[in-house]
Amino acid sequence: MLIVQLPEIILHYCIASESCFLLRLDHEGVDDYALFDIKLCDTNAASISADMNIFTPWHGTAMAKINIITFNSMTFSEKTARRFFLDFCWKNHQRHCPACKNRKLYRLSDGRRRCGRCGYTFHDFSRRFLNRCAFTAQQWLWFLKLFSLDVSPAAIGEQMAVSYATVLKAADTVRRAILAQALDAPRLYAAGVWPGPGNPMPERDMVNAPVFGIIELGGMAICDLLPDLSAENLLHFKLNFCLKTASIGQVVYTAPYKQYQSLVSCGPALWPARYVRHADKRLPVEGSPFWAFSKQRLRQLRGVQSSHFPLYLKECELRYNSRDQDLLPVLAQALCAFVPRPTETRTAANGLAQVR
Ligand SMILES: [Zn+2]
Repeated sequence: MLIVQLPEIILHYCIASESCFLLRLDHEGVDDYALFDIKLCDTNAASISADMNIFTPWHGTAMAKINIITFNSMTFSEKTARRFFLDFCWKNHQRHCPACKNRKLYRLSDGRRRCGRCGYTFHDFSRRFLNRCAFTAQQWLWFLKLFSLDVSPAAIGEQMAVSYATVLKAADTVRRAILAQALDAPRLYAAGVWPGPGNPMPERDMVNAPVFGIIELGGMAICDLLPDLSAENLLHFKLNFCLKTASIGQVVYTAPYKQYQSLVSCGPALWPARYVRHADKRLPVEGSPFWAFSKQRLRQLRGVQSSHFPLYLKECELRYNSRDQDLLPVLAQALCAFVPRPTETRTAANGLAQVR
């Protein structure tokens, strides 16, 4: 346990998981939670307070709720809907080149802009998640509203008069946008999760999902990617070290492991033979409200592809942690972010190394 005193904010406690710290802050008498990157672990206590401002904490500060009357005015026209998304796209309405961040831009006659430095031509939604699916801003707003209300894909398709395939693609886009916000996103991409449009598809399909560790504290859940563990390891722990396991469909979860309430994964490696069953009763994680919430959602999926499992789990995490706030602006913000390009960064880094 680490107690650090900072001006105005007292950090009550923190827990270290593989990728992050969860800190409980007493901010002017109001409880707040913040997640910080594990990089803080490497620094000593004296520099933690100095570095604190550099890290942008992801925390539960509620965004303004959008009631149905406000929503109605937002979806009134394409222009009003677009304005809503634009506010999330450009900080202080300052546009910059998505490729090189340069601010010197030329306006083209068709409304697009061209970068004065690298010549990249773009519009406001270029390279962002919401540029996928060819939805108008109005359609995206309606989609997010129905998605946040957990309306089934078939019903969304019917209500919006779009095909079932389009709805699935839009839902996939929103989930990838949610995942991109996670602190462990870079490691999930390294594990074979496709970041989104603009990135090459992974060469091989993911056979087994990565293993996640679950921590729930003070009403906040973290599903942490554990890159050093695999589905095979879980089975090994079960068969050789009697780690208790249970399942929801193909998804297997376990008794506590290290600081985690449970490990969770899915994939054929967990089901090698008929006699292997994951049916232990009364695992401690059953008492976790987050797991009760997630179990219900995972059960509804009726079979989940291993490569999609991280997306569903991160969606559960976000929905649970945002349960007291309006999901629509939270999702809109995620959707307006640029699609990460980890391979490009990696290639650029390699190129730099070669030059050196
Ligand atoms: Zn540029």
